[in-house]
Amino acid sequence: MRRLCAEDTLLLASANQGKIAELSSLLAPYEITLDSITEYHNGEMAEDGATFEDNALQKARFASAVSGLPALADDSGFCVVALDDAPGIYSARWAGPRKDFLHAMGKVRAEMPDNAFPEAYFVCVLALCFPDGSEACFRGEIHGEFCWPPRGTKGFGYDPVFIPEGNVRTFGEMLPEEKDHTSHRARAFTQFQQRALPTLRS
Ligand code: IMP
Repeated sequence: MRRLCAEDTLLLASANQGKIAELSSLLAPYEITLDSITEYHNGEMAEDGATFEDNALQKARFASAVSGLPALADDSGFCVVALDDAPGIYSARWAGPRKDFLHAMGKVRAEMPDNAFPEAYFVCVLALCFPDGSEACFRGEIHGEFCWPPRGTKGFGYDPVFIPEGNVRTFGEMLPEEKDHTSHRARAFTQFQQRALPTLRS
């Protein structure tokens, strides 16, 4: 796996301000200059792959090609085992054009067979692509249970219907610091840090 150098400029292949802020603070200690896809491309990027890895790579490859820079993209979603891991890569699309996550959570509930085991998990895949074609993916997962009705107002998306293993509260009832400690995104970030970032000077 090719690692980034401290002199590199890294393009963040997302227009989502939340993701950009999270990645920027993670990368702050590494003296890597960050740039945004919005400098090179306006509008949505295609993501019509069959897996989280396909979609994250699709976005990172596109961003690297239009900018000539190494690019980092992420794709994430909520998976329910009794629904054959749906909504999965379609998590955002289940909320419809109005991004109505109450509707999306209700759809999960409606599609769960009676007495189904509530096992569920979140996935985050980060993809890093270099202009020379080298690339890698970093995957993080957090497992737990789907709960109904939704509880908590602190998170976003499917947070109010997910209780991580070993907890009694949903992600929606946790402070951001608590969630960030163990979340799928934090776990993917850790892989990326360990395998793709330069060793920090002491
Ligand atoms: P995307 O990676 O921006 O396409 O996000 C996919 C969708 O997955 C989001 O719109 C959320 O609905 C859902 N999702 C991903 N991560 C989380 C999370 O940490 N909490 C709740 N929902 C999430």
